[in-house]
Amino acid sequence: MPATPAWPPRSLPRLFVDEALLAGASVQLGGAPANYLGNVLRLEPGAEVKLFDDKSGEWLADVVEAGRKRVTLVVRENLRPREEVPDLWLLFAPIKRGRIDWLVEKATELGVARLQPVLTQRTVVDRLNLERLRAHAVEAAEQCERTALPVLVPERKLKAVLAEWPDNRALLFADEAGGPPMVEVVRPGPTAILIGPEGGFTDDERALIREHPQAKPVSLGPRILRADTAALAAISLWMSMAGDWPKVST
Ligand code: SAM
Repeated sequence: MPATPAWPPRSLPRLFVDEALLAGASVQLGGAPANYLGNVLRLEPGAEVKLFDDKSGEWLADVVEAGRKRVTLVVRENLRPREEVPDLWLLFAPIKRGRIDWLVEKATELGVARLQPVLTQRTVVDRLNLERLRAHAVEAAEQCERTALPVLVPERKLKAVLAEWPDNRALLFADEAGGPPMVEVVRPGPTAILIGPEGGFTDDERALIREHPQAKPVSLGPRILRADTAALAAISLWMSMAGDWPKVST
């Protein structure tokens, strides 16, 4: 029989705040965060909350005033410095709403440093709501205990991205048409994974990517994966081989 979940939950509420934190600072929350702490969780003065600012790490803060529309906290002590995120970028062709939200959420949980939407010839979504995507990244970072948010940059055309590619970064191009297994290609160091749209890359794009000096085609197995599945499979593989998954002590 499943155990009855403990209530209230033992972990403290954890929120991102878009201002630099330091000991003794007063933080005023309104809108959704205040509603969450004051109305949903019904926190009262004296309750503890964890805050992080994507700059100085994670802090313990005390609620000093709690209402449904406004919550005031005072920052008490630093719990952890801002983490060093593994140097992995995800380049992905935008896919439709729902799936792209899910992709951003999961890529954040899995630990990517940067999310770069890339417009390809078969990309069907041409306008992205970056604010909404950022909100999903923030929520995922709050939940999975990241102290650094992934950098989310505006969409760019594939050609432009390739033309300005940094010399020191490997570009692993997930090619559904075949390539060596990704496990044979991954090397430590700055890397990006490129995932195509649901319609796949065109032959022209495939040729353009393949002739780029840093690009290496990789296969993710014999089945054609949906773009979001392919992205998460590739990130997981890289994290387990060259990222921070092996660094967790037992
Ligand atoms: N419409 C394409 C087709 O039928 O060949 C499939 C595109 S797939 C849905 C979307 C993207 O996921 C691809 O462009 C590729 O980047 C990646 N992908 C999917 N399965 C893959 C695999 N087995 N190996 C490498 N990449 C894969």
